[in-house]
Amino acid sequence: MESTIPVDRIRFIGPIYAKRLKKLNINTVGDLLYHFPFRYDDFSKIVKINELSKDMVATIEGSVWQIKSFRSRHGKMLTIALINDGSGTVQAVWFNQPYIAKALKSATSVSISGKVDSFSGKMSFVSPEYEVGKRVHTGRLVPVYPETAGLSSKWLRSRIISLLPQVSDLPEVLPPHILAKYNLIDLPSALKAIHFPEDFDEANKARERFAFEELFVLQLRTILRRNEWKKQEVAFPIHLKQAQMEEFIKKLPFELTAGQKRSVDEILSDLAKDTPMNRLLEGDVGSGKTVVAAIGMYATYLSGFQSAFMAPTEILALQHGQTIKQMLEPFGVKVGIFTGGKKEKGDEYIDVFIGTHALLYDQVTFEHLAYVVIDEQHRFGVEQRAFLKKKGGSPHVLSMTATPIPRTVALTLYGDLDLSVLTELPKGRIIIKTWVVPPEKRDNAYKWIREQKTQTFIVCPLIEESETLKSVRAVTTEYERLAHQVFPDLRVGLLHGRMRSREKEEVINKFRDQRLDILVSTPVVEVGIDIPTATIMMIEGAERFGLAQLHQLRGRVGRGDQQSYCFLFTDSAEESAVSRLKAMERMGNGLEIAEFDLRIRGPGDIYGTTQHGFIDLKVASFSDVDLIEKTRTEAKGFLDLDTKLLESEELRKRIESIKEIAVEPN
Ligand code: ADP
Ligand code: MG
Repeated sequence: MESTIPVDRIRFIGPIYAKRLKKLNINTVGDLLYHFPFRYDDFSKIVKINELSKDMVATIEGSVWQIKSFRSRHGKMLTIALINDGSGTVQAVWFNQPYIAKALKSATSVSISGKVDSFSGKMSFVSPEYEVGKRVHTGRLVPVYPETAGLSSKWLRSRIISLLPQVSDLPEVLPPHILAKYNLIDLPSALKAIHFPEDFDEANKARERFAFEELFVLQLRTILRRNEWKKQEVAFPIHLKQAQMEEFIKKLPFELTAGQKRSVDEILSDLAKDTPMNRLLEGDVGSGKTVVAAIGMYATYLSGFQSAFMAPTEILALQHGQTIKQMLEPFGVKVGIFTGGKKEKGDEYIDVFIGTHALLYDQVTFEHLAYVVIDEQHRFGVEQRAFLKKKGGSPHVLSMTATPIPRTVALTLYGDLDLSVLTELPKGRIIIKTWVVPPEKRDNAYKWIREQKTQTFIVCPLIEESETLKSVRAVTTEYERLAHQVFPDLRVGLLHGRMRSREKEEVINKFRDQRLDILVSTPVVEVGIDIPTATIMMIEGAERFGLAQLHQLRGRVGRGDQQSYCFLFTDSAEESAVSRLKAMERMGNGLEIAEFDLRIRGPGDIYGTTQHGFIDLKVASFSDVDLIEKTRTEAKGFLDLDTKLLESEELRKRIESIKEIAVEPN
C-alpha cells in the first residue's frame, strides 16, 4: 500500500468525509494511519451478565431478546434493548439513535461495552458501544481519537482497522540497526498496536517506537538544514574595520554587559566568514538585544552593504526604527522604515531597512543585502524566513528571542543554529516589585498610581490570540472610562493594533516624550516596546495570560534606573489561578518562570501552542531529555554513515512534511 494515496480513494470515504478529515490535517492514507488515539477505553473485561454490578466498566456478549424505539415523555427518542447471555438479562439504552433498533433486531451475538449504571430503576448500560460479531468498538482496549464535527472515534476506528491488514508493505523509516539496538517494534506491528493494542503494554511499546521515530526524523531535519546552510557561500563578504567598530562601541551611551560583548564578538566573527551566519541570540526581556544586533549593522555598513531588521508587529518596527536611527544615523548610516502602513519614499539609497513582513512582500528591493536580523523569530514562519533569504541572496542571519528555551528543545528544534546568550541584565536594574491585586483593592491602586507622578502602562485583557475588533472595542471602552472617570486630570493615550501607523507612531512618541501619563493598550505592547521613563505596568485580566507573556509585559517597565512596579489585576477567585499569578511576585527571571509554567501547565500550553510557534509533538515530549539525546546521536551517526541512506524516499518525504506553527504577525 502507498502511504501517499489520498484518503478519498479509500473505500467508504467520499468527498464529504475527505473534507472533514482535512480539518484534522489528514489528507493521505499515511496521515490517517498516523492519527493516533490519545487514550483507550478499557472494555477488555468480558463478563457474564449475572456478574455485573453498578459502575463496572465491562463488555457482555449475548443475544437480543427484545428491542424497541419510542418517544419518551420528555420527547427524546429512546431505544431500549434486553440482552441475555444465558446467565441473566440486562438492559441497554440509547438516546436519539432509533436506527439501532433495526441494526440489532434479531442479532444473536451482540457485544455491548460501557459502564453499568441504572436507568429507570434497572441495571443498564447507558449509551454503550455495541457491535455484532466483531471486536472493534467493544470487548477490547478501544482507541479514542481526536475528533472533529461529523467525525467520530467510532467512524475513525472502522476506517483505520480496515487499512491495517494492508500495512505490511509500508516502507520502514527507521534503519534496521536502530530498531534492533533500541529494541523497537517494526512499523506494521507498531501501527496495529497503537490503534488496537492487546493490552496497555503493547500500546506503550508502540508509543515508544513512534516517539523515537518522531524525534529521529526531527533531528535529521535539523542536522540536514545545518549542513545545507554551511554549504552556502555569502554573497557579500564583510571585512571588519576594527578601529571604527571600537570607536562606535565606545561612543554608545552605556557600557556593554559581558554577555553583550561576548555576543558581539561571536556575531562579528561570524560576519567575517564566507559561510553565512545562522545564529540565535537569546536574552531575557530588557537584556539589550537590539544594540547587539545594531553593532552588526554598523559593521555591515562599513563594508558597503545593506542590512534588514524584521520585527513581528508594526509598533515594534516603528520603535526599532527610531532606536536604530538614533544609534546609527550620527555615523552616516541611512535607515529606512517599511511597514504595511508606512513606506519610506524617494529613491535614496538605504543602508538599513527596518520593517515588518512588509519587507518581504512589498516592492522593497535589496541590492547588497548582507545581514538580516529577525526579532522575536518564533513569530515568523519558516517560509517567511526562507523568503527573506531568497530575496537577499545568501545573507548572514541573526534571529533573536526572549523566549527562554530549555536546552533539550533548543537541541531538537534549533540545533541548526549557533547560540549566543545574554546571561545578565544591564547593570543597575532594580527588581520590579510585583503585586497581584484583587478587585476590592482596585481603587487604592488607582490612587497610588496618581501619587507616583510617573508614567503607567495599562494593558487590557487578552481576548483572543490575535487582535480582533472585539479587543479594540474593549480597550476603547476602558480608555474612555480611565480618561474621563478615573484619571480626568491626567493625560491618557490609547494604543491598539488597528490604528493607522501614523497614529500609533504619534501616540508612542507622545508617551516617550512624556507628554502622556498613561498609555492604555491591548496586549500589542507585549513584545519589545522600550520606554525607560515608564515605571508602572498594570495588567487587567492577568489570569488570561501565560506567565511568559506576563513576564514580557512586565519587562516593558524597569528599563531605566527607577524603581518600577507591576500590578496584576484579576477578578478570578480561583485558587489555582491566583497562586499561579502569585508566582510572578516571587520570580523575576524568564527562564525560571518558563520552567515553573511548564511544570504546572504542561509543555502543550507553553511550547506546543501557536503562542510560541514551536513544533507540536504528537507522541514524544520535549521533556524527555534522554530520548532527545539518543535520537540526536543516532541521527548524526546515521548521516555520517552514509548520506545515500537518505535516498529512502519515505524518510525524505517525512522530513519535508514537518510543519512549524507560526503566529500570524499582526
Ligand atoms: P531586549 O533584549 O528586551 O530587546 P532592548 O534591546 O530593548 O532589550 O534593551 C532594553 C533597554 O536597555 C534599552 O533601553 C537599551 O537602551 C538599554 N540597554 C541595552 N544595553 C544596555 C547596557 N549595556 N547598559 C545599560 N542599558 C542598556
Ligand atoms: Mg527586543
